[in-house]
Amino acid sequence: MKTIRASLVLFFAAASLSCEHEAAVPPASPADTPVYVTIYSHNERTLSRFGGFRESLAGYLEFREGMIFNAKLIASYGLKYNWQSDYVILEAIAQWEKLALEADPSRTNGKHVLRYLAEDLGVSIEVHAHESQNPEPFRFAAPPNYADLARMVWEIAGIEVPPLMGGSTPAERSLEELAQGIAGNVYETTWFPKILSGFAYQAGHGPGADSSLSGVWRPSELSDGGYAVHDDASPVIAIGGGNGFGSFEDSLAYLDELTAKLASGQVPGGRIYTASITFPEDHMLEADLRAEFEAALVRLKALADAGKIVAATHPGVIQAWKDVYGSSPNVYGTR
Ligand SMILES: [Zn+2]
Repeated sequence: MKTIRASLVLFFAAASLSCEHEAAVPPASPADTPVYVTIYSHNERTLSRFGGFRESLAGYLEFREGMIFNAKLIASYGLKYNWQSDYVILEAIAQWEKLALEADPSRTNGKHVLRYLAEDLGVSIEVHAHESQNPEPFRFAAPPNYADLARMVWEIAGIEVPPLMGGSTPAERSLEELAQGIAGNVYETTWFPKILSGFAYQAGHGPGADSSLSGVWRPSELSDGGYAVHDDASPVIAIGGGNGFGSFEDSLAYLDELTAKLASGQVPGGRIYTASITFPEDHMLEADLRAEFEAALVRLKALADAGKIVAATHPGVIQAWKDVYGSSPNVYGTR
């Protein structure tokens, strides 16, 4: 009996030791602190750019091939992809995917294209809405919002998107609204976002609009002055994108600068840093941009292989923030 008890004590001691050993701790030095990099794409509700992909099977197939190409390319470099969609492309998928899949099941391993991306290529399927834009005023009384998009993805592919808004502006949403949940404009549904990526101070994308902060924190307000201020009581977690809306060159230059500052100890280590590489999905149908994008992926893979970055999905960033950094906030940058 004594022996059993002794070995049990030993067993538990060993178990707790090994737990301690496996518990993730933040890197101690700046040089060992990686930047979590998310690659994500947008398709928009701008009909002049995306309407054509919804109009015919041929238009849809062109877009679908682009989706598959991008997802496979990113996966082939061991990197992660967050596919963020607005409603025009979701409607195109709802309309044409069945025919596309029947015509060539082997292209997507016999799966709905969104399930193929998610299950076979590790893509995070997410929603992105420019909620204040309603390009089809006669089509909807009010434009589809985030709650509607999340519902649409569920309806068309049976995929539950992460509770993540792929962008918002102070004019569109307040934290109070997000805490109460977003009621659908089209569907009778309420959706509770918990994470925000791609915050912008003004509508649209471009200089002065998109936030260029890095890190993960809980913003005290969705406002010019409040976004960069952490508040434990905030209902959402923000993921900074760095210079994600620049050209690939600009986004990579930001990343090179940040990793260099970490390597030299110019910025504190042991905290979570983030940056994004983004692309408009329609632009990626052009061969020129594809070549530029692949060159960017080559550089990202080298940074990942050197341990300077960790490629992640947005849910993966949140997981690391909780598991490795104990949900400790980091807001890096000024705006
Ligand atoms: Zn957008």
